[in-house]
Amino acid sequence: MPDRYYSAEPIDGSTVTLADSEAHHLLHVMRAKPGFELIVFDGQGGEYTAKVVECQRSTIELNVGPRRNIERELPFELTLAVSLPKGDRQRWLLEKCVELGVTRLVPLQTTRSVGKGDVGSKSEPNKKFARYVIEASKQCGRNRLMEIASPIAWPALVAETTSGQCLLAHPGGQPLIEIKAPTNEGTKLLLAIGPEGGFTDEEVSQAVGAGWETVGLGARILRIETAAVALISVLTNNRSPRGKKLATDEHR
Ligand code: SAH
Repeated sequence: MPDRYYSAEPIDGSTVTLADSEAHHLLHVMRAKPGFELIVFDGQGGEYTAKVVECQRSTIELNVGPRRNIERELPFELTLAVSLPKGDRQRWLLEKCVELGVTRLVPLQTTRSVGKGDVGSKSEPNKKFARYVIEASKQCGRNRLMEIASPIAWPALVAETTSGQCLLAHPGGQPLIEIKAPTNEGTKLLLAIGPEGGFTDEEVSQAVGAGWETVGLGARILRIETAAVALISVLTNNRSPRGKKLATDEHR
């Protein structure tokens, strides 16, 4: 399968111009010349076969085929609210969330969170974070970008969440194997992972009072990112993507 590139510009004709990192990669890493074939995706569920028609200094013009709606999303909406770890671990967590199909990541501010999770705002997201999401989507074949929401304080998240199933990862919670998460088409699942210092007793009671379930992930204390990957993997159980075509139809 040809390499995948992301177009930040909506694609609505038979040509599109790539700029910035995507153009840089094509021009200076791949040394693409007119005729070079690739796939472009628009981050909103569409992908296109494309061919380079013209190379400029920092932009590259492509001829694109018809839009193909190829969904590699989970059949349900999965939100992960997480107190973000630092540095490389943050990047790793974001990447794995994209690969595992998380719909939306919400940086959490809890009593014991360190730092604010500097993700920017919806209209102006932190460029580094947005880049991690694009890179992971290019690699794993997702045609929709994982949303990164604005950071939210724990009590506000609990108060705002009124629909779907809500699970809070907490050592000593109900064993994961006993949790019945309805992951059918159209359902909503919200998972919360706490900071290195854990959720406070008060935070846990707030959630339980609002109908959340606590879930335990075994006898050992996991790092934030390990807890996230373990929880998501088990609950999503490698569910097929939404839509008719499976990712594997396109990849193999
Ligand atoms: N010292 C904290 C652990 C923090 S680990 C405590 O004892 O509570 C960071 C987060 O990862 C936790 O808040 C929880 O959401 C999740 N986590 C780590 N290990 C877990 C486990 N064994 N079961 C459930 N959640 C876990």
